[in-house]
Amino acid sequence: MSGNTQQTKLEVKAREWLQERGVSIRDIADLVYYLQAKYHDDLSMDICEFNVNQVLKKREVQNAILTGIQLDKLAEDKKLDQPLQKTIEIDESLYGIDEIVAFSIVNVYGSIGFTNYGYIDKQKPGILQHLNDKSTGECHTFLDDIVGAIAAAASSRLAHAAADDELLDD
Ligand SMILES: [Mg+2]
Repeated sequence: MSGNTQQTKLEVKAREWLQERGVSIRDIADLVYYLQAKYHDDLSMDICEFNVNQVLKKREVQNAILTGIQLDKLAEDKKLDQPLQKTIEIDESLYGIDEIVAFSIVNVYGSIGFTNYGYIDKQKPGILQHLNDKSTGECHTFLDDIVGAIAAAASSRLAHAAADDELLDD
Protein backbone atom coordinates (compact mmCIF):
# COMPACT_ATOMS: atom_id res chain seq x y z
CA MET A 1 0.00 0.00 0.00
CA SER A 2 2.78 2.39 -0.84
CA GLY A 3 2.61 5.03 -3.51
CA ASN A 4 2.66 8.73 -3.90
CA THR A 5 0.61 10.34 -1.15
CA GLN A 6 0.99 13.89 -2.39
CA GLN A 7 -2.22 15.36 -3.75
CA THR A 8 -2.34 17.66 -6.73
CA LYS A 9 -4.41 20.86 -6.63
CA LEU A 10 -6.94 19.14 -8.87
CA GLU A 11 -7.29 16.22 -6.45
CA VAL A 12 -7.61 18.55 -3.44
CA LYS A 13 -10.37 20.51 -5.21
CA ALA A 14 -12.23 17.37 -6.31
CA ARG A 15 -12.15 16.03 -2.72
CA GLU A 16 -13.34 19.39 -1.35
CA TRP A 17 -16.26 19.52 -3.74
CA LEU A 18 -17.35 15.97 -2.93
CA GLN A 19 -17.32 16.90 0.75
CA GLU A 20 -19.21 20.16 0.14
CA ARG A 21 -21.89 18.24 -1.77
CA GLY A 22 -22.37 15.89 1.18
CA VAL A 23 -20.37 12.86 0.04
CA SER A 24 -17.61 11.49 2.29
CA ILE A 25 -14.94 8.91 1.48
CA ARG A 26 -16.65 6.68 4.01
CA ASP A 27 -19.97 6.97 2.12
CA ILE A 28 -18.29 5.75 -1.06
CA ALA A 29 -16.37 3.05 0.82
CA ASP A 30 -19.72 1.80 2.18
CA LEU A 31 -20.85 1.29 -1.43
CA VAL A 32 -17.65 -0.63 -2.22
CA TYR A 33 -18.31 -2.85 0.79
CA TYR A 34 -21.89 -3.37 -0.41
CA LEU A 35 -20.60 -4.48 -3.82
CA GLN A 36 -17.63 -6.58 -2.73
CA ALA A 37 -18.30 -8.10 0.72
CA LYS A 38 -19.74 -11.28 -0.74
CA TYR A 39 -16.64 -11.93 -2.86
CA HIS A 40 -13.92 -11.40 -0.25
CA ASP A 41 -13.61 -13.01 3.16
CA ASP A 42 -12.79 -10.51 5.90
CA LEU A 43 -13.20 -7.44 3.73
CA SER A 44 -12.49 -4.41 5.91
CA MET A 45 -13.69 -0.83 5.60
CA ASP A 46 -10.01 0.22 5.59
CA ILE A 47 -9.46 -1.75 2.39
CA CYS A 48 -12.59 -0.22 0.86
CA GLU A 49 -11.49 3.30 1.78
CA PHE A 50 -7.97 2.64 0.49
CA ASN A 51 -9.33 1.66 -2.92
CA VAL A 52 -11.62 4.70 -3.07
CA ASN A 53 -8.63 6.92 -2.30
CA GLN A 54 -6.61 5.28 -5.08
CA VAL A 55 -9.41 5.94 -7.59
CA LEU A 56 -9.55 9.60 -6.50
CA LYS A 57 -5.87 10.01 -7.49
CA LYS A 58 -6.76 9.60 -11.16
CA ARG A 59 -6.91 12.78 -13.20
CA GLU A 60 -9.83 11.63 -15.35
CA VAL A 61 -11.79 10.89 -12.18
CA GLN A 62 -11.01 14.33 -10.73
CA ASN A 63 -12.09 16.01 -13.96
CA ALA A 64 -15.35 14.06 -14.05
CA ILE A 65 -16.08 15.07 -10.43
CA LEU A 66 -15.44 18.76 -11.08
CA THR A 67 -17.38 18.83 -14.36
CA GLY A 68 -20.40 17.00 -12.99
CA ILE A 69 -20.62 18.90 -9.72
CA GLN A 70 -20.22 22.23 -11.53
CA LEU A 71 -23.23 21.45 -13.72
CA ASP A 72 -25.26 20.26 -10.72
CA LYS A 73 -24.48 23.48 -8.85
CA LEU A 74 -25.37 25.70 -11.83
CA ALA A 75 -28.65 23.81 -12.26
CA GLU A 76 -29.41 24.12 -8.55
CA ASP A 77 -28.85 27.89 -8.79
CA LYS A 78 -30.93 28.04 -12.01
CA LYS A 79 -28.00 29.52 -13.93
CA LEU A 80 -28.03 27.29 -17.01
CA ASP A 81 -29.70 28.27 -20.26
CA GLN A 82 -32.81 26.44 -21.43
CA PRO A 83 -33.46 23.74 -22.36
CA LEU A 84 -30.46 22.36 -20.44
CA GLN A 85 -31.56 24.03 -17.18
CA LYS A 86 -34.82 22.11 -17.06
CA THR A 87 -33.29 18.86 -18.29
CA ILE A 88 -30.64 18.73 -15.57
CA GLU A 89 -32.84 20.24 -12.86
CA ILE A 90 -35.51 17.53 -13.22
CA ASP A 91 -32.93 14.80 -13.92
CA GLU A 92 -34.63 13.94 -17.18
CA SER A 93 -34.33 10.22 -17.75
CA LEU A 94 -33.47 10.36 -21.46
CA TYR A 95 -30.66 12.92 -21.02
CA GLY A 96 -27.93 10.31 -20.47
CA ILE A 97 -24.89 12.61 -20.39
CA ASP A 98 -24.57 12.14 -16.61
CA GLU A 99 -24.01 8.44 -17.29
CA ILE A 100 -21.49 9.20 -20.04
CA VAL A 101 -19.45 11.29 -17.60
CA ALA A 102 -19.66 8.43 -15.08
CA PHE A 103 -18.39 5.95 -17.69
CA SER A 104 -15.14 7.90 -17.94
CA ILE A 105 -14.60 6.87 -14.31
CA VAL A 106 -15.83 3.29 -14.63
CA ASN A 107 -13.47 2.76 -17.58
CA VAL A 108 -10.36 3.35 -15.52
CA TYR A 109 -10.04 -0.19 -14.12
CA GLY A 110 -11.47 -2.21 -16.98
CA SER A 111 -14.76 -3.71 -17.98
CA ILE A 112 -15.84 -5.40 -14.74
CA GLY A 113 -16.52 -1.87 -13.49
CA PHE A 114 -19.51 -1.66 -15.83
CA THR A 115 -21.23 -4.60 -14.19
CA ASN A 116 -20.71 -3.08 -10.75
CA TYR A 117 -21.91 0.31 -11.94
CA GLY A 118 -25.08 -1.07 -13.52
CA TYR A 119 -25.90 -3.05 -10.41
CA ILE A 120 -25.39 -0.25 -7.92
CA ASP A 121 -27.23 2.23 -10.15
CA LYS A 122 -30.28 -0.04 -10.00
CA GLN A 123 -30.08 -0.82 -6.26
CA LYS A 124 -29.20 2.71 -5.07
CA PRO A 125 -27.99 1.78 -1.58
CA GLY A 126 -26.69 4.20 1.07
CA ILE A 127 -25.60 7.65 -0.09
CA LEU A 128 -27.05 7.00 -3.58
CA GLN A 129 -30.53 6.90 -2.14
CA HIS A 130 -29.99 10.28 -0.48
CA LEU A 131 -28.56 11.80 -3.68
CA ASN A 132 -31.64 10.63 -5.57
CA ASP A 133 -34.07 12.16 -3.10
CA LYS A 134 -35.71 14.90 -5.16
CA SER A 135 -37.45 16.42 -2.12
CA THR A 136 -34.25 18.02 -0.77
CA GLY A 137 -34.20 20.87 -3.33
CA GLU A 138 -30.62 19.90 -4.17
CA CYS A 139 -29.60 18.84 -7.65
CA HIS A 140 -27.36 15.76 -7.90
CA THR A 141 -28.14 14.67 -11.45
CA PHE A 142 -24.43 14.14 -12.20
CA LEU A 143 -23.13 13.42 -8.71
CA ASP A 144 -25.21 10.28 -8.10
CA ASP A 145 -23.73 8.65 -11.21
CA ILE A 146 -20.24 9.87 -10.37
CA VAL A 147 -20.38 8.46 -6.83
CA GLY A 148 -21.72 5.13 -8.11
CA ALA A 149 -18.95 5.08 -10.71
CA ILE A 150 -16.20 5.78 -8.16
CA ALA A 151 -17.52 2.91 -6.03
CA ALA A 152 -17.67 0.64 -9.09
CA ALA A 153 -14.12 1.55 -10.12
CA ALA A 154 -12.83 1.04 -6.56
CA SER A 155 -14.55 -2.37 -6.51
CA SER A 156 -12.84 -3.32 -9.77
CA ARG A 157 -9.50 -2.19 -8.40
CA LEU A 158 -10.07 -4.25 -5.28
CA ALA A 159 -10.97 -7.30 -7.35
CA HIS A 160 -7.86 -6.93 -9.51
CA ALA A 161 -5.69 -6.48 -6.42
CA ALA A 162 -7.18 -9.61 -4.85
CA ALA A 163 -6.31 -11.51 -8.02
CA ASP A 164 -2.76 -10.08 -7.91
CA ASP A 165 -3.24 -8.44 -11.26
CA GLU A 166 -0.91 -5.71 -12.27
CA LEU A 167 -2.61 -2.49 -11.35
CA LEU A 168 -3.15 0.56 -13.48
CA ASP A 169 -2.31 3.20 -10.90
CA ASP A 170 0.17 5.26 -12.87
MG1 LIG B 1 -27.97 10.90 -12.79
